[in-house]
Amino acid sequence: MTRVRESLFNRTDPLRIGEAKPAYSPDAGLPASADSTAEPSIICESEEWIAIRRHLHRYPELSGEEYETTAYLRERLENLGIRIVDYGLETGLVAEIGSGEGPIAALRADIDALPIEEETGLEYASTRPGRMHACGHDFHAAVLIGAAQLLKRREAELPGTVRLLFQPAEERAKGARQLIQAGVLQGVGAVIGQHNKPDLPVGTIGITAGPIMAASDGFTVTVRGTASHAAVPEAGIDPIVTAAHIVTALQTIIGRSISAQERAVVSVTQVHAGNTWNVIPDTAVLQGTIRSFDESVHSRIKKRFAEIAGGVASAFGAEASVRWSGGPPPVVNDAALTALAGICAHGLGLRVAEGITSPASEDFSFYQQKVPGVFLFVGTSGDREWHHPAFELNDAALPGAASLLAELAVRTLLHLSETVEKED
Ligand SMILES: [Zn+2]
Ligand SMILES: [Zn+2]
Repeated sequence: MTRVRESLFNRTDPLRIGEAKPAYSPDAGLPASADSTAEPSIICESEEWIAIRRHLHRYPELSGEEYETTAYLRERLENLGIRIVDYGLETGLVAEIGSGEGPIAALRADIDALPIEEETGLEYASTRPGRMHACGHDFHAAVLIGAAQLLKRREAELPGTVRLLFQPAEERAKGARQLIQAGVLQGVGAVIGQHNKPDLPVGTIGITAGPIMAASDGFTVTVRGTASHAAVPEAGIDPIVTAAHIVTALQTIIGRSISAQERAVVSVTQVHAGNTWNVIPDTAVLQGTIRSFDESVHSRIKKRFAEIAGGVASAFGAEASVRWSGGPPPVVNDAALTALAGICAHGLGLRVAEGITSPASEDFSFYQQKVPGVFLFVGTSGDREWHHPAFELNDAALPGAASLLAELAVRTLLHLSETVEKED
C-alpha cells in the first residue's frame, strides 16, 4: 500500500504569484466550478480531452512508429491555434505557446504504446492486435493537450514561452535523447513531466523532491567455456553450470554489498544456452537489468557485478564478459520546482502525497541531466500496475492533471523570470 500523507508544503504562497484558483475538486472527480476566470469551460473541455485520450487508446503505436499519433496530436494543436515548431522529428512533435520572448518552460508527455495484447474489454480498447497503451502514455498526451488549451487561453499574459514536447519512444528510452539532440531544450530553464500512478487515488498528486525513479541499465553476460559430448563433461568446460553459479552469486550484490538503506535491484531475466540434449555448448548468455536511485550505488553494483561474473567464471575455468546497455539515470526532482508544484496542487484543491517513488525508470531523467526538472505522479485509482494487459486508468484524473500542468507552467515562468532578475 502506498503511503499517502498530508503535504508539508507551505499553504501560503511565498512567490506572490496571482491567486490560486480552485478550478478542480478531487472529491467530485471532475472540475467543480466555473468560478475561476482562468477555467470557465473546463468541464466541457475535459470531455474533449477524455475523448482524445480514448482515441489514442484505440490506436496505439509502438516506440518510434508513432506516425498516426503524431498527426492526430498535430491536428488537435492546430485546431487550438497553437504553433507547431519544426525540429525535424520523424515522430513526436514540439509546439509553443507564448510570445517566444522571455524564459522557456518545457512540458513533456510521452506518446508511445507497448507490444502487449490488451485484455481490458473496454469499449475503447485497442483495435490493434498486440499493441496497447498499457503505460498510460495516451493519458499523458491528452493531459498535455488539455494543459495546452488552458495555457493558450492565457497566452497574452504568459511571462515567457511554454514549449510542449510530445515525445516518442519512451518505452525504449530513446525518445528523450532524440529530442534533446534535435535541440528542444535550447533556451529551456525548466522541464516538467508527469506519469499516471494507479496506486494513488484520483485527485492525489505524488510530488517529491530528490530521486523518485530508478536508474536502469541492461546487461548481457557471455560465458565462454569449451564444448564437449554430454557424456564426457571432463573433456570440456561447461558454460551452463558456470552461468548457473553466476546467477546465484549475483544475488549477493544486493544482499551483501549494498546497504539496507540503499534501494537497488539486480534481476536476471534471460538465460540462453545450448541447442540439443546431448551436447554441452561452448557459450551461455545471461541478460537482465539493474536498478538503483543513486549514481554511486549504481556504479558500485556494476563494479561488484563484473568482479563476481569474472571471478566465478574463472573459478570454473571459463571466461565471462559483461556488456552494459546504458539506460536512463535516476529521475531526480529539483527542490525549487518541486515546491512550486506542491503550491500549485494545493491551490487547485488537489491532495499532495510526498515520498512516492518507483523502481521503474523513465527517460525524462535525460532532460533533467541538462536542465532542472520536476516529474509528478498523477493518481489514477487503478487496480493494475503499468504494463499489465488489463491496465486501466480513470479519466476523472485528467482535468486535474491538465490544470496542474498549466498552472505549474505559468508559475515556473514567473519563477524563472525572478531568478533572471536576481542574477541581473
Ligand atoms: Zn512504461
Ligand atoms: Zn510510462
